[in-house]
Amino acid sequence: MSNKTSIVIVGGGAVAIHVAQALDKQLSPSKYSLTMLTETDYYRHLPAALRAFVTAEGDLESQMTFPYDKIFGKDTKNGIGRVGTVQLGKVVSVEEKANDKGYVVLEGGQRIEWNVLLIATGSEWEGPLRWPNRLSDLESQMTFPYDKIFGKDTKNGIGRVGTVQLGKVVSVEEKANDKGYVVLEGGQRVEWNVLLIATGSEVARGLEDRGVVILNGDSVTGLEQDVLDGIQGVVPGRTITTTKGVTLPAELIIPTRGSRRVNTTFLGDNSPSAVTINAALVEQGRLDVSRTLQLTSNPNVFAGGDVVALNEAHTIVKAWAHTSVIVENILALLTARENGTEVVHLKKYKKAMDGIAITNGARRGTMYLDFFTIPILGWPIILGDWITSTLKSQSLSAGGIRSWMGQ
Ligand SMILES: Cc1cc2nc3c(=O)[nH]c(=O)nc-3n(C[C@H](O)[C@H](O)[C@H](O)COP(=O)(O)OP(=O)(O)OC[C@H]3O[C@@H](n4cnc5c(N)ncnc54)[C@H](O)[C@@H]3O)c2cc1C
Repeated sequence: MSNKTSIVIVGGGAVAIHVAQALDKQLSPSKYSLTMLTETDYYRHLPAALRAFVTAEGDLESQMTFPYDKIFGKDTKNGIGRVGTVQLGKVVSVEEKANDKGYVVLEGGQRIEWNVLLIATGSEWEGPLRWPNRLSDLESQMTFPYDKIFGKDTKNGIGRVGTVQLGKVVSVEEKANDKGYVVLEGGQRVEWNVLLIATGSEVARGLEDRGVVILNGDSVTGLEQDVLDGIQGVVPGRTITTTKGVTLPAELIIPTRGSRRVNTTFLGDNSPSAVTINAALVEQGRLDVSRTLQLTSNPNVFAGGDVVALNEAHTIVKAWAHTSVIVENILALLTARENGTEVVHLKKYKKAMDGIAITNGARRGTMYLDFFTIPILGWPIILGDWITSTLKSQSLSAGGIRSWMGQ
């Protein structure tokens, strides 16, 4: 068995890749090993996903999925860097021998030793957003007859029909200035951290102009399990009927209710020996972290991205902001461990920028960024089509992601 200190990253998304890349550049190969474990054999750039399902325009499929082979640099291959290795495998449990030693167990039984652990396993989505774990399977799943449904050859009078939000907002509750609930008619409460109030204005008008039908005060229930699991795809001629009796053509259904939960089910009952790690599990399976992004119950275990129980919107912008804190603090911990001293300084995470950019095709959109406010009054400025399309709608940041992935 190797006597190197082992850093294990569970996840292959926004946080995991950034941290793996930064540590690979800085750690000494003679003293450390770094393993990034991911159950998918490709990175999914989620902001481009929804559009990719409804249009063949722009070949988004190839712009939002990237292999991991060159994440450690354009000149590297097979996901192998100086110190880091990408390994394919689903983590099914974690074993803990001490708070700085244990094993991560993969489906199939392989055990990988950890001294420092990062959990960055993101959220579980539903419908077509529950993507397969192999890129080769995605290709067949995405061969929807787009042109017939959304393109020029639209048949059966089906146009661009989408549902942005079903439900009439009757009140807004505020618990803090970055937390509260929007209450819908019927009592359903939807939590918010950033709230963009654009009723009947920019967002709705922009969508309706393009033929999107928005139903207020209505809902759809009883979606089939195959739809929720994302294995059904297009069903020609299908319709759905809302609770108020409106029948809609629905050849492709994409539920967009947000994440079902975070991917931490490999902990808890599945990891009986991981006592200090399980102690950080809180509501919805999230992990309780301090501002240093270490688990409150174990300083050798870090968490980042969607899995953390910080009171903030869980977005890729926040995930990226977590990574510099995690990297600096893992390095501080390793230095102290090497020198046999106490950790002198740990970086604290300061909440990253809040914002919402709602794209509407490639040329339109609406955006709010929390640093754009009207001086004195402090009201947010809502930005329109030109700036939103320049910053996000046109490219969906795909070019930057390609180069980040070394492709
Ligand atoms: C359709 C859609 C659009 C979005 N658009 C935006 C946007 O425009 N702007 C924005 O800021 N945010 C957006 N988000 C949210 C953003 O994508 C997430 O907040 C961000 O990806 C979280 O990063 P992460 O590293 O925590 O998790 P992810 O990037 O989801 O990565 C998690 C990784 O962990 C792996 N994994 C999970 N479980 C295991 C396991 N047991 N073993 C091994 N590996 C495992 C997964 O395969 C995956 O590779 C969007 C999300 C969706 C679904």
